[in-house]
Amino acid sequence: MGDAAHVHSPAGGQGMNTGLVDAVFLGRSLASVVRGERPESALDAYEQMRRPAAAQVLQLAGMLTRIATMRSASQRAVRNAVLSLFRVLPPARRKLLMNLSGLGRKSLAVVPGRV
Ligand SMILES: Cc1cc2nc3c(=O)[nH]c(=O)nc-3n(C[C@H](O)[C@H](O)[C@H](O)COP(=O)(O)OP(=O)(O)OC[C@H]3O[C@@H](n4cnc5c(N)ncnc54)[C@H](O)[C@@H]3O)c2cc1C
Repeated sequence: MGDAAHVHSPAGGQGMNTGLVDAVFLGRSLASVVRGERPESALDAYEQMRRPAAAQVLQLAGMLTRIATMRSASQRAVRNAVLSLFRVLPPARRKLLMNLSGLGRKSLAVVPGRV
């Protein structure tokens, strides 16, 4: 879990958030198996849920890095115009923020139990 499983560019600031969700998911899963509430096979859900989340984070961080490091002045002008739309389109801004924070992913909801 954490950067050991999905190291990526810090663009977007998602690494710690993603690692914390990994830890909560795996901690809850391990606790429920140790307590005998769920079978060992329930641990397979960790990879099923967290690998796609890690893939999304890598994709978004890679895209943000490419956008942030554009060299051509014309590309940067288009980028800045598009980014300014986020200020006037609250639903788009909210979607981006939910993605960056990891709150838009449902993985924690599927593992019952206490943190
Ligand atoms: C510039 C920058 C800005 C960032 N900003 C954000 C942000 O705003 N929001 C966000 O969510 N994330 C951000 N991140 C990412 C975040 O810092 C990392 O995703 C997070 O620290 C990863 O935590 P981790 O515990 O998985 O790994 P690490 O923090 O790398 O911890 C691993 C630990 O294991 C130790 N270790 C390694 N090998 C061994 C060994 N053999 N034996 C014992 N110990 C060992 C290391 O010394 C280290 O202390 C940023 C990263 C950078 C570089």
